[in-house]
Amino acid sequence: MNSPLSTALISRSQNPSLSKLETSPSPYLDNRVTKSHRGNQRTRSQTARARLQTKRHLAALAGGIHEPELADKLQRCHSRLSVLTCGRHIAQIVPNFTCEFRLCPDCSRRRSRKLQNKYLPAMRAFLRHHHVKPVHLVLTQTHQPETRKQSAKRIKDAFTKLQRRAFWKEFFKGGTWSLEFTKDKNGLHHTHLHIVGFRRKFFDIGLLRSEWLAVTGDSHVLNLKPILDIAAGLREVVKYVSKPLDIRRFGADDLREFLKLKNMRMFGTFGEFRDFCTGFVPSDNDGDEVSELESLSRDLTEGCACPKCNEPLFDLRLSSDELLRFYEGIESSPPGKVGTS
Ligand SMILES: [Zn+2]
Ligand SMILES: [Zn+2]
Repeated sequence: MNSPLSTALISRSQNPSLSKLETSPSPYLDNRVTKSHRGNQRTRSQTARARLQTKRHLAALAGGIHEPELADKLQRCHSRLSVLTCGRHIAQIVPNFTCEFRLCPDCSRRRSRKLQNKYLPAMRAFLRHHHVKPVHLVLTQTHQPETRKQSAKRIKDAFTKLQRRAFWKEFFKGGTWSLEFTKDKNGLHHTHLHIVGFRRKFFDIGLLRSEWLAVTGDSHVLNLKPILDIAAGLREVVKYVSKPLDIRRFGADDLREFLKLKNMRMFGTFGEFRDFCTGFVPSDNDGDEVSELESLSRDLTEGCACPKCNEPLFDLRLSSDELLRFYEGIESSPPGKVGTS
């Protein structure tokens, strides 16, 4: 495979096939689970600026709670970049250093892409081999005064119980789960479980609610919707692993709570899909949809043709602030003109 450090930003967010159809409205929608569906309309420079601000905010918080090592790592992460560009497009970005901190927006993006690269081919193959339909299921819990860790453990334990029940075994063949951390307006932590489930057949949503109530003791609130595009479905759930919370509103206590989670798993597979992944080797068929993702870490070097316009690529050494200005230059220059100055 390619260097794990390489990341690149080839017009992914502008690819219509990736932005369409996260999920479709459906009669299963349970409106009691509210989620903000913010459109992904921001420009490259805006998202880069948001990442930089998030990182500086986290570094400052880490310094404030006497975690100087973490603060230092966050400051160094992606601070110097080797950028392969034709002047108009960016083909690859290789950072000098990656902190690997879970909340780091740069490192979590990379992690999210890795998860997608790893599981999307397996999901495609699983769907081809089995007569199942993918669904996105969100399981929720009641708000209780407890730590982040206790809340996460509570919902994971309930899910383990759910999987042991006859109902679950009858209707779900497996899938993936991931944790989403949220906080209510009273400051109470709670956790959602996002599941890409491979459903064997239709069932009454009311039955699933009563099953969830049976294992949680107090929550029947869930959301179930069919996944029409498995790539979009997986990306949707991986998003929560890579972006656990609105970090701009993160305070010192939030960071402290988060650090207590240490090595807690936030993503996993279950059921027959788990076994399937163990022995899975992607074939050419499974790679189709992933090529878009893999292109993001493809090994390119100076002199290679830009994948967008065929102009030769050259290497720029930029700081994170300079990269931001570089994006702004590209975005403000008219099409066809080179955006460097
Ligand atoms: Zn990082
Ligand atoms: Zn180009």
